[in-house]
Parts: sequence; C-alpha cells; structure tokens
Amino acid sequence: MKRILPFAFILLFGCAGKEIGTKVLYEGPINGNFVSSDVLVGYFHKVKNCMGIEEEVPYPQVVIYDGDHVVCGDRIKEGCTLTDGKILLPKKTSDFIVQHEFVHYLLLHTTGDLDPGHKSEEFWKCAGRIHIADDVS
Ligand SMILES: [Zn+2]
Repeated sequence: MKRILPFAFILLFGCAGKEIGTKVLYEGPINGNFVSSDVLVGYFHKVKNCMGIEEEVPYPQVVIYDGDHVVCGDRIKEGCTLTDGKILLPKKTSDFIVQHEFVHYLLLHTTGDLDPGHKSEEFWKCAGRIHIADDVS
C-alpha cells in the first residue's frame, strides 16, 4: 500500500503557538514512498549540486512528525539533524528548513562535522536564505 503523507510546505514566521509533533508520520529514507518524497529528493540534489559534491551520497533518513515543531534533544525546533545524520522534521515545514537540514547532513557526510554553529557559507549559499532563526538547527 502506498503511504500517503500530507506534507505541507509553509513558511513559519512568528510561530504563534507551537504545535509540537509527537506522532511519527513517516520514518525512512527521503526517497521512500510518501507524497513529498519527490520534493525532498529534488531539494537534496539541488543542495548537493550547490555544495559541489559529485560523489554518491546516500539519501538521508528522515523522521517526520505531525505539528510544526519537533523535539531535538532538550530543545523545541523547526527541524534538526542529529549527529548520526538522521533528520527530524515536522509535517508543516518549509523549503528553507528542508534545505538547511540537507546542508547539515551533507557537511556531516563529507567532513564528519555537521557544523551546529553554522559557520559554513553553504548555509547562506545553498539553503535558500540567510540563517536567522534561532529555532532551526
Ligand atoms: Zn542548522
């Protein structure tokens, strides 16, 4: 059975009232069989090309929760990449957040460091806009 997962790409400004996702809607590789898999795969290749990475890189594992925020360690965030490369995203996310997390993933894969402090210029160059949200990691 094809898994259908509504995956809303919206921009979150202001975040009045966070909906913290607790229910896992999808867990698996980004090219899994869910409704937004093509979108995520497209962004993955876009970011990878932008970063000039030519080698094959396995698709990241993603866990998608309901709501618009996820629990990352002891923080509530709009998305995060864990040190093992797994990406946590809420269902209500944005193109910026998805690409931002892919930059972390690809940095981890190519340098061994996911750059939690956002020192790499790729965050500016390849994730669509300047990193300003304290909420995103
Ligand atoms: Zn980040």
